[in-house]
Amino acid sequence: MIAPESRPTKTKPLPTAADLAHRVLRDGEFWRSIPAYAEVDEATFLNHIWQGQHSVKTPEELLATIKGLVPESFIEDVRDGFHRAPMAVRVSPYMIASIDWSQPETDPIRTQFIPLGSRLRPDHPMLTLDSLHEQDDAPVPGLTHRYHDKALFLPLNICPVYCRFCTRSYAIGADTDVVDKVDLHLDMKRWQTAFDYIASRPELEDIVISGGDAYQLSPRNITAIGDALLGIDHVRRLRFATKGLAVMPSKVLTDHAWVDALTGVVERGRKHGKDVVVHTHFNNPNEISAITQRAVDVLFQRGITVRNQSVLIRGVNDDLATMLLLVRRLSYINVHPYYVYMHDLVRGVEDLRTTVATSIELERNVRGSTAGFNTPVFICDAPGGGGKRDVHSYEYYDRENGISVFTAPSVKPGEVFFYFDPIDALSPEAQARWSDQEIRTEMIEAARAKALETRR
Ligand code: SF4
Repeated sequence: MIAPESRPTKTKPLPTAADLAHRVLRDGEFWRSIPAYAEVDEATFLNHIWQGQHSVKTPEELLATIKGLVPESFIEDVRDGFHRAPMAVRVSPYMIASIDWSQPETDPIRTQFIPLGSRLRPDHPMLTLDSLHEQDDAPVPGLTHRYHDKALFLPLNICPVYCRFCTRSYAIGADTDVVDKVDLHLDMKRWQTAFDYIASRPELEDIVISGGDAYQLSPRNITAIGDALLGIDHVRRLRFATKGLAVMPSKVLTDHAWVDALTGVVERGRKHGKDVVVHTHFNNPNEISAITQRAVDVLFQRGITVRNQSVLIRGVNDDLATMLLLVRRLSYINVHPYYVYMHDLVRGVEDLRTTVATSIELERNVRGSTAGFNTPVFICDAPGGGGKRDVHSYEYYDRENGISVFTAPSVKPGEVFFYFDPIDALSPEAQARWSDQEIRTEMIEAARAKALETRR
């Protein structure tokens, strides 16, 4: 037996600067490097009304904001991208100031919000505009009831920014040159119909209030929705979904009425034993600055839980170093990294999608790097309405042709759901197979048969 004092010690090596990079947050008046914001002081830049009024919506506004930082050829590329995009464009000054304009083509924030014509790829042949079939599972307009005990309420169709990859590009934002949207504008009568439906369904315990974005709801509307839903006995959990913390965090620092309204709903919920939380949407660690930390601190000090749902996006967070930094930085500022979704099959953004294999590999490497409760679940929201499936839980995955098959026994028993990897990520031979309609159908049917065989 070795005496304790003579046992070799097992001291871990000290962390390197890279190991602690998640604690280094962009601080100071970083926005002043943008020509249009050079003279903007802190109080003005943080003001949520100023942020909303100075959001960029056209190539001309972008040019006026960043004049001199990019060549005219880049703006031409943006013009082409705007013209072909299914989503309206809206980018907050906070996001504009978070982009590295010395390399805008590859910047992860530019990639998410400002389309470049030169980067667009043809859509996957199996893609539809409402890939999650939210409209098919909507018993009343703006309310999706897919899961047994949970419903998704869409009170409005506007957001503080518009994301190129939005799942709801069928409804969110203004019509574009290529898409006429489903009308989900703010309408109290429509809301009442949704509340009546929820009240009539005793199995509904969990309501997600999304949109659009809860950031765009007035304090009065936050209170009205919160009170209406908390007043329904069987509703036990509310989630206000907002991307706001990622794209305009300073609203939490300057719109006191909005934060008070949200806090009021959380506190009334708590008094009645009901859980009210915020779900947000960071995709890249560069979105998190010292301003974000101050904003999240406000919610944390009021006892409001914030969870994050990322989308896995090519060139934004599909490499291990970026995903680890995102997970650690979110955890550091007290936001739980809850989900990482496969990018939905959405029109006009094939350049942003990546493969199921990428997601599986990232999950393998992220798990174990931090505490389990801060480790996101990597999921695929099965196109066609199968709901969220763990990426590892496919019934069959034809990696060569990029076809994964999922089932969802507790959502839609007996049905199978397909996710398709982006075609340009496949081998030249597989790409050729996808260009042939007959072979394409055969490949999908073969994958279905394999999946059903595995189930037996
Ligand atoms: S904030 Fe959410 S709902 Fe709005 S455009 Fe982005 S992803 Fe879509």
